[in-house]
Amino acid sequence: MNTQTVLKTLNLDFNNTTPAAKHRRNVVWMQRARHTSQLAFATFILATSVSHHFASEDGSVASIDALCPFGGIETLYRYVASGGQFVPKTHLSNLVLLAGLAIGVLISGGAFCGWVCPFGSLQDLLTSIRKRLHIPEIEVPAKLDAVLRYGRFVVLGLILYQTIANVRLWFADFDPYRTVFGLDWLFAFDPVLNAVTYASAFVVLLASFFVERGWCRYACPLGGAISVLGNFSLLRIRRADDHCKGCAICERPCPVKLHMASMNVVNSNCIGCMACVEACPRHGALELQLHPTWWDGMKKGWDWLRGRNNSKV
Ligand code: SF4
Ligand code: SF4
Repeated sequence: MNTQTVLKTLNLDFNNTTPAAKHRRNVVWMQRARHTSQLAFATFILATSVSHHFASEDGSVASIDALCPFGGIETLYRYVASGGQFVPKTHLSNLVLLAGLAIGVLISGGAFCGWVCPFGSLQDLLTSIRKRLHIPEIEVPAKLDAVLRYGRFVVLGLILYQTIANVRLWFADFDPYRTVFGLDWLFAFDPVLNAVTYASAFVVLLASFFVERGWCRYACPLGGAISVLGNFSLLRIRRADDHCKGCAICERPCPVKLHMASMNVVNSNCIGCMACVEACPRHGALELQLHPTWWDGMKKGWDWLRGRNNSKV
């Protein structure tokens, strides 16, 4: 293999300066950045967890509970209603992270799920293992999929109700992210006391092995909250009708099974993985753009007002 072929394989062939080649290079580099980011965040959370377990005698290292933006959602009501008190095991750090996440979502939608969340990364790992083993995915029928996606809001509502009513992190016993990355199963394994906790995590991991990003799509309460706020995000992937040939190749790699080929603007369930943009064979058909949907609404309203004023003249 000569040098040029190697560079082409690695997408480092900078001699090719056509807009399509440049665009492709950018997308491939973005994917590499995403995988690096996923690995970095998962490693950071695991390292924090290990340090916490070794330092748990003197409590000098915070647990991963303090590093979760969802803890901010869980404690927000108590913090406001009680004038500054927290649900036990949550801290100011949870509210700060929640504020940071909200800003991130308003900029880039669900990219937190595709670039940061360690539990999302773990599900991607499960999918890649399943693919390597040539085990087929369980395809959820479209109508059932549309209904099941509301599951995230049911879980979110239940958690908020129970947390407010009991003033404790009620979801902690069932949260698969906390169970896996909290590492109690490694440092303080207790199958009797934690039977329900381990069973719920096992079921979620098993389901996510067969259904790609199954937890994210159907049950994650944080993902549900992100998808609501994500409706206002500045960055969106848009499909240009005049460039698209309707082949739907872009839909094949989508981890959350969105039907990009029939949308003009990706919906707020997108996790910003850019796999569709990478897969699309037509340059310019799918692009990440700084173009929020609310801008279209404002423009339409403005055009309507102008049309009305002109018709009065
Ligand atoms: S949907 Fe939930 S579990 Fe999935 S990536 Fe987003 S926050 Fe993480
Ligand atoms: S629509 Fe594209 S960017 Fe969004 S999750 Fe699916 S493949 Fe990833």
